[in-house]
Amino acid sequence: MSATLRKAFARIDAKTAAAKAASGFQCPPGCGKCCTSPFVEATEIECVPLARALVEQGRASAVLERIRLAESNTCVIYEPTTPDGSKGQCGMYEQRPGLCRLFGFSGRKSDQGMPEWAACSHMREQTAPDMEAALQEPPPACMPIIADEVFALRSNSGRPDEQIPLPINEALGRALSKELTRAMYSSYVRDDDEEGSDGSSGRQPEAPQQNLYDRAYAAAAAAVAASPNADELD
Ligand code: SF4
Ligand code: SF4
Repeated sequence: MSATLRKAFARIDAKTAAAKAASGFQCPPGCGKCCTSPFVEATEIECVPLARALVEQGRASAVLERIRLAESNTCVIYEPTTPDGSKGQCGMYEQRPGLCRLFGFSGRKSDQGMPEWAACSHMREQTAPDMEAALQEPPPACMPIIADEVFALRSNSGRPDEQIPLPINEALGRALSKELTRAMYSSYVRDDDEEGSDGSSGRQPEAPQQNLYDRAYAAAAAAVAASPNADELD
């Protein structure tokens, strides 16, 4: 993960942790409902850490295939533990993109420019009336404002074409395609201190990564072999 992204994620995590502590708000145990929303957005650059981890785990091709077959925009990384999907967990929690890090413990500016909680309806239902009373109070100053955080994250990371907000599966698919290709064929990697990938300052000669290459190649070959159109490729 680039140093810029790492710092940006750490800053968001620190702010949400502070807002959680100051408010006393809690997610109901096991809840993962926010991950089932079809409106979760991310940028390609935010998904690079997630994509790299999937390549290193040999899961990139399988996840790409799940994205290709997905019938909705619900994140393919989500791992539901109940049939209705209301409970579950992120399958790649440490590498999750920026907006995911703000779920539940963040806010927005009112029409009058005042900070207010973007209260999660599921948290609200489960913890009423305590949360309702807390929502009547001004939010703590540490509460992150979603629009400000994602703007800072996205404007400081990556190239313009990597900063476009997309449905999370699409953003992850783009990052995965590039990272898988890079792992298979490229002799260049991103500089760990700079997230740009324009070839000028964001890349360094890649050290040999035989295991990574082998795993990525094997995963891609398996995906091709399993394709219904594989015969046409002969
Ligand atoms: S990346 Fe993780 S936290 Fe974000 S929507 Fe997907 S499952 Fe949820
Ligand atoms: S933010 Fe809301 S939907 Fe997401 S886990 Fe917490 S309570 Fe559930």
